[in-house]
Amino acid sequence: MTQKVIGMLGGMSWKSSAEYYRLINEGVRDRLGGLHSARCLMWSFDFDDIAVLQCEDRWDDAAALMVEAAQRLERGGADFLIICTNTMHKAYAQVRAAVDLPLLHIADPTAARIRTAGFKRVGLLGTAFTMEQDFYKGRLIDRHGLDVIVPDAGDRATVHRIIYEELVQGKVETASRAAYRGVIRRLVDAGAEAIILGCTEIMLLVGPDDSPVPLYGTTGLHAAAAVDLALG
Ligand code: GLU
Repeated sequence: MTQKVIGMLGGMSWKSSAEYYRLINEGVRDRLGGLHSARCLMWSFDFDDIAVLQCEDRWDDAAALMVEAAQRLERGGADFLIICTNTMHKAYAQVRAAVDLPLLHIADPTAARIRTAGFKRVGLLGTAFTMEQDFYKGRLIDRHGLDVIVPDAGDRATVHRIIYEELVQGKVETASRAAYRGVIRRLVDAGAEAIILGCTEIMLLVGPDDSPVPLYGTTGLHAAAAVDLALG
């Protein structure tokens, strides 16, 4: 069987890109067996370049970097693309318009799985950009019919800080896991039936034991959807 070549926009951060790479290869091996592994290309950013632009609210400049990287992957022979971060789906429309390749949105397989499980009201954890702006929540609500709730301002600041000061730097702290458990519990108290781990590093910190309701990790669901598309 000929696999499609997965083009990965990565390095945001490399800690989660390493998880994507592992999960995609394991997914192909599980499906095809033996010595099979994924055919893929990754462009890996220096994350500092991206994080500075995010911080300075220079989203058009960040989108231009994403477009340039997507075009490199297209020239390199990718058959379709994935953006290996939730936050930089803010540039989804620009990337999609700039290449002649399918672009698999991270929110779509996540929402599909949640709907299949019968849940409607979900709590969303991610960067402040993902939790507060419309580019991601809007897709969950408008396209997938979910009710999305986010933590209060104090909890959002905590969740955001732990992502940038710890998780993208590979630090996994017990105190931060406890903080996330508290945030999840408050979302459940507010009616969340399930939680979206809407940042690709959060799965490094929390797992099923940290939540009274199901967790939907975007890293794993996005990687699995990429494997499905690659294998047809
Ligand atoms: N990987 C994270 C996400 O899924 C945050 C890093 C970024 O800003 O891209 O949103």
